[in-house]
Amino acid sequence: GSESKLQLVHRHIRAFPDFPKKGILFRDICPILKDPAALTAVIDLFEEHVKKNHKRVDLIAGLDARGFLFGPLLAQRMGVGFVLIRKKGKLPGATVSVAYDLEYGKAEAEIQADAVSPGQKVLLIDDLLATGGTLYAACELMRQQQAEVLGCMVVIELKELNGIDRVKPHSVFSLVQY
Ligand code: AMP
Repeated sequence: GSESKLQLVHRHIRAFPDFPKKGILFRDICPILKDPAALTAVIDLFEEHVKKNHKRVDLIAGLDARGFLFGPLLAQRMGVGFVLIRKKGKLPGATVSVAYDLEYGKAEAEIQADAVSPGQKVLLIDDLLATGGTLYAACELMRQQQAEVLGCMVVIELKELNGIDRVKPHSVFSLVQY
């Protein structure tokens, strides 16, 4: 067929009003994972972007939790390692963490102290960019570990929340925008 990879991805994202609370339109990527062709298209599009824009990548870092679904596939495709940036309290051993503001309250992003080395070039990945608070915290973690953030990648960007501004000066590449 003539359907593009982007169209295929787009067709496998669905929306649920008022989840997890009233006023939020939840963008659900589960149908992508259920369809091997759609999932392959996501990884293909990310890989194409990386090849075009970055000469050297040392690591992919994925954000808790849906960044863990796409990150390892992309890392394996590229032949690089994958590391986890988790919500506080989930990782064993020595860790470092960064606190950040949510719409209501605070959260902390955490990484194992030996996950990234100074000077390593890291790409960050998550399913969705909303306010950018989560990716901002992840970039801050990388900065504290003296790793270099090459950029961020998400399947979906919610444009009206201006998350891009929060993550600046780092770039955010997205496949689908609402
Ligand atoms: P933020 O830190 O505001 O950019 O929020 C991004 C994180 O929250 C991502 O890890 C998303 O998985 C999740 N998230 C925020 N808003 C939505 C939404 N409307 N639909 C699905 N996930 C969302």
